Amino acid sequence: ASLNPSQRQAAQHHCGPLLVVAGAGSGKTRALSYRIAHLVLQHEVDPGDILAVTFTNKAAREMKLRIERLFAEQSCLSEYGIPLAELEPHKQTRLRSQVYRKLIKPLSIGTFHSLFSRLLRLEIEKYQDPKGRQWNHNFSIFDESDVQGLIKEIITQTLKLDDRRYEPRAVRYAISNAKNQGWTPEELERQQPNVRGRTIAQVYAHYLDQLAANNGLDFDDLIWIPVQLFRQNPDVLAYWHHRYRHILVDEYQDTNRTQYELIQMLSTNGETRKERLNWEQRSIFVVGDSDQSIYKFRGADFTILMEFQESFGDGLADIKTQTMVKLEENYRSTQAILGLANHLIEHNSERIEKTLRATREQGDPAVCFKADNEQFEADFVVTRIRQMYGSLDQQLEGSGGNWGDYAILYRTNAQSRPLEEALMRAGIPYLIVGGLRFYDRREIKDVLGYLRAVMNPADTLSLLRVINTPRRGVGKTTIDKLTATAATLGVPLWEILSDPTSVKTVAGRSAQPVINFAKLIQHWHQQVQSVTAGEVIKGILDESGYWDDLKAQSTDEAEDRAQNVMELLNAARQFEEEEGDPSLESFLSNASLASDLDNLDDNGGRVSLMTLHSSKGLEFPTVFLVGLEQGLFPNHRSIDDPVSLEEERRLCYVGITRAQQNLFLTYAQERRLYGSREPAFPSMFLEELPREWLHMEGGALPIGRSVKRSRPAEVRAAAPSSKGTPATTTKPRGIRADQSWTVGERIEHSQFGFGQITHVFGSGQKVTLAVKFPGLGQQKILDPRLAPIEKV
Ligand code: ATP
Ligand code: MG
Repeated sequence: ASLNPSQRQAAQHHCGPLLVVAGAGSGKTRALSYRIAHLVLQHEVDPGDILAVTFTNKAAREMKLRIERLFAEQSCLSEYGIPLAELEPHKQTRLRSQVYRKLIKPLSIGTFHSLFSRLLRLEIEKYQDPKGRQWNHNFSIFDESDVQGLIKEIITQTLKLDDRRYEPRAVRYAISNAKNQGWTPEELERQQPNVRGRTIAQVYAHYLDQLAANNGLDFDDLIWIPVQLFRQNPDVLAYWHHRYRHILVDEYQDTNRTQYELIQMLSTNGETRKERLNWEQRSIFVVGDSDQSIYKFRGADFTILMEFQESFGDGLADIKTQTMVKLEENYRSTQAILGLANHLIEHNSERIEKTLRATREQGDPAVCFKADNEQFEADFVVTRIRQMYGSLDQQLEGSGGNWGDYAILYRTNAQSRPLEEALMRAGIPYLIVGGLRFYDRREIKDVLGYLRAVMNPADTLSLLRVINTPRRGVGKTTIDKLTATAATLGVPLWEILSDPTSVKTVAGRSAQPVINFAKLIQHWHQQVQSVTAGEVIKGILDESGYWDDLKAQSTDEAEDRAQNVMELLNAARQFEEEEGDPSLESFLSNASLASDLDNLDDNGGRVSLMTLHSSKGLEFPTVFLVGLEQGLFPNHRSIDDPVSLEEERRLCYVGITRAQQNLFLTYAQERRLYGSREPAFPSMFLEELPREWLHMEGGALPIGRSVKRSRPAEVRAAAPSSKGTPATTTKPRGIRADQSWTVGERIEHSQFGFGQITHVFGSGQKVTLAVKFPGLGQQKILDPRLAPIEKV
């Protein structure tokens, strides 16, 4: 009942291929979730037969939760004849846990990476590397910084190349790209038969050797290796093809070629002749919006979506099978917001025309604010958030607004700093999504290093990370000797470490701490199948001395680190409860794959700050899209490249369509970014929006701090719209005679928010101030002895 007719058609689809295309906020994700429920409840599909791919782990969890609710509702009605809410609480709990065990747990819902890392745990030993490299099911998953480290080492140490010429990041990108194309080092060399290509292929080959030596995989491998594995072993493919009868993919427009190939093989058993496809008791169901394809730099290719019907749809036995559904109603945003989004995206030429009608009320026009600079922009955002939060607070009397209703979106992470500072000053709780991930923190990587070594002692990278962390007297010379020995023998470091005699021989008097360390790892390695992840973490923390060491440091920083480590223990326990799987292996996979977005889960009433890329699929009542300036958004690399420019425009479309109720677009007239202050010009995307649909605010002149703090003449000459008033260009010097208030100074007013002094009148006891409040779009004259203001 909570779906419209087209959504219902999609949700009720049973067998064969189906593509759902629709604009933002039209309920694609909702239709996909309902379809899973419908397959199980109506078509009696075994939940274990379903594979659903989401874009983030968070989306996967939400989807499971939503389906669980649907199932619980349904089984309550059929079992007790009443809605779930009316059932006694203890029976509700019992019912839900039954539902969870029987129907939710067997579902395979997750990101490409998490789903296929699970599959690899079972199958990787069947993979045949062309050079005989081998991995086993205990493999570690290396994150980006591990990978960068390895590649850098190969470039500078192993191959002794100039790392300015072969910049590790660039080489890493080239290798990743090769894997996404499905190329081995040999193929990469064939594709790029020049010196650079050959050299990168060489690094690539060494890199694969290193991965295998550590029994480690990178993120690309989690997709690339299953593809190879399926090609090499038709029987393995046949098994999984048979197992996953119903395959669903959300955000299909951001699929890359390797991911497509996986999906294609799994759903057709590698069959490419369409007339031979058999869709009996099988389906492939994808949803997406080509206007929201924003991951080209990771190989995403939205023509994959456009070709869906050709890839899967033609030559079907049943010619009546419908293979496409369009959703045309938007349930998320007000008409005012949706109108802007639709208008903007029409400027793209490479797209499928589609209709997207608003179902919600007209709503307020979006506010477009011109700020003097990034600080004013930040102040404006914060003032507005506070105003809205406050007014909501009063309306709802005590129930309060929710900081979690606000999102600030930007093009690059570097833009977050002034926003963070302003939020901090205002005491507003916020969360940076995709900043330094929890799992990237040093102490967390240390503990994970132990856990990975325990799970997979072949993981030399991890062993080396923790062999002397905390300090236990294993010096660099000792470590070098041990690794050199292992290298000479061509064995993993662990083979040397785990043998006390070898250690004594190599390390001499420094042997004892190494032997103790090896014993610790060995001990837990032997336990790993029989104890929970939480127990391993606790044991390691105690026995390695890591915990005592943190405690002994007794600095604030160490205290912080200790808390994070405890949080990791919590995460392990929570994981055990939620997934009903206490093994260290599963917990580690989950931790390695936790994406930037996952900390949004507990945003628990905080303002979210994130890049536009991270905001895909999400929605917020109020959205601030900041830094709409030419060269920043669209970024400078795209301005002369029509294809990239269209991708930037799609990104803007994604940003606008995250807003449900209120939308603010802001730009600054000058901005300090990456160290230098530059004049800025409004984004072309703003120009593309119909003026009459925007409520313009600001129009402030670049006076005050910029004049005072940086090279005044230059800035004023450079900023094109800084017409300036005589007062502002000539007065500051004279007025500064007043000791306590200065033109350009920033203040905070308890009611009007942040402001900047534009004039100081009089002196001594008679002084009054003119203050411009960006949040109000107004200037006010205040008596500093009476007004509730404070200097910022
Ligand atoms: P995006 O393109 O951003 O991924 P989407 O198409 O996946 O969006 P959803 O996130 O599924 O859209 O839905 C957008 C919002 O509209 C959600 O809040 C959802 O609950 C609501 N919604 C979807 N369909 C309906 C409906 N038939 N009736 C009421 N609300 C709906
Ligand atoms: Mg969606």
